[in-house]
Amino acid sequence: MGCGGDFVFDNNHGSFVFHFWRLLIIDATLAAWGYKRFFYSCGLCSFLCIIGWMIKKIILIVILMLLAGSVFLFHRTFSYEQGKNIDLSTSALIYDSINLASTTTSTPESIFTQQSQILVSNYCDSNVKFYENSDNKFCSLPPKNHAFRLFEINLSDNRILFYLNGLLQKTYPIAYQAAYGVWFQTPTGYFELGVKKQKFMSSVIPVFMENAVQLYEDFFIHNIPYWKDGSKVDSQFSGGCIRLEDPVALEFYNDSQKGDAVVSYLNFDKAVLKNGFYAPVNISQFWVRQRYNSPLKTVSKWYEDKRENYIQHAGLDLAPYPNATDNYVYAIATGTVEKIIYNGSQDAGLGNGVILNHLVDKKNVYSLYAHLGLIDDSLKVGSLVLGGQKIGKVGNTGYGCNYWRIGKDGCDETGEADTHLHLEIKEAPVLGSPKSDKCVIPSGKITDCVGYTSDNPVLFGYTDPLTFIFDQF
Ligand SMILES: [Zn+2]
Repeated sequence: MGCGGDFVFDNNHGSFVFHFWRLLIIDATLAAWGYKRFFYSCGLCSFLCIIGWMIKKIILIVILMLLAGSVFLFHRTFSYEQGKNIDLSTSALIYDSINLASTTTSTPESIFTQQSQILVSNYCDSNVKFYENSDNKFCSLPPKNHAFRLFEINLSDNRILFYLNGLLQKTYPIAYQAAYGVWFQTPTGYFELGVKKQKFMSSVIPVFMENAVQLYEDFFIHNIPYWKDGSKVDSQFSGGCIRLEDPVALEFYNDSQKGDAVVSYLNFDKAVLKNGFYAPVNISQFWVRQRYNSPLKTVSKWYEDKRENYIQHAGLDLAPYPNATDNYVYAIATGTVEKIIYNGSQDAGLGNGVILNHLVDKKNVYSLYAHLGLIDDSLKVGSLVLGGQKIGKVGNTGYGCNYWRIGKDGCDETGEADTHLHLEIKEAPVLGSPKSDKCVIPSGKITDCVGYTSDNPVLFGYTDPLTFIFDQF
């Protein structure tokens, strides 16, 4: 998966190589160390001595296997421990740890005030380097979190933005990203950069990649792969990895560090609403933190990275900019209130929520608004709601101890970083999947799917909220 689509990380072949080398190392080490010691200490062996020796060897073999396993896992995949996904309810804890490295963002200097641009505030460094001059539009937007070193992957504008201490330093153009909507699409959310590798080869076919930096699991940021004879892989298809032109990849490789905070997202700069529809939040102050069908890995195995190890996001997560002033949630269309759900043991992790019933093309379609911080008092089950009407405020409810059970204390954190609207469009007024489906959640438990599905959400009665509400985005 992931770059597997680039034919670069084939896991089955990788694991074969991995097994071979692991066994070789174990054999050699045992031969050199174990047998010799056996004859010294147990030359005139008693039965107990032999048993004791065997137990010690078993412990040694286990330790060696673990060591060899991690070394060769690293060799093949750059280690699954790196490139963490820190989105969703799993995010709070790790997000906090990212922030440990951050410092207070200084007030950005305004260097564009002399120009006729309407830049109210300026988030660019005075030495900022733009790939194109038009990238100066990013100067008016604050970075999406307060990490000291932050890379933003702006999938709407095909740019990577590098922020230092809250100020934009550089923009890098993205050459290719995965097609919209496929299950192995470039993940959106919060991440930390994983390992970096200057050059490596696919274990399946002789395709080389250079200056690769791990974003998340098998998803990398790297140059455009090339064949053994030096010719470029001409397919523009990317299995979710982000491909940069060679000089750009080199620059990104040199500028980035393992552990750097990353936010991968879409924005609403080009958004056009469909007739009769309303944005669920003030889109000039919100961004897409996790898109529909975005992959989330919930099963970690040593050397496998398969489709079934991922669940897919069934909704759309919209997060406010740090300086957002309008945190209201609005009805996406006219309808009636079908359900009002309050944060508690029955909320399945979605917290305070509202489900509205809309009639679209003579069919009932339901919109679900989750993690609300506040539900408007005027809403009553059965009451009419007009499109664009306020129904509440965004929040971070549902991240308590009821469902996910992860984090330091067995509950999720409920930090400000988790504040977002989780919006679903579905064919039934239910909290979870309209069609029966089982999901492995981050705690490892298998449960009914809520907010996620085991495969493309469209198979389980969900619709992509972006394409449902917007003509263009
Ligand atoms: Zn969500």
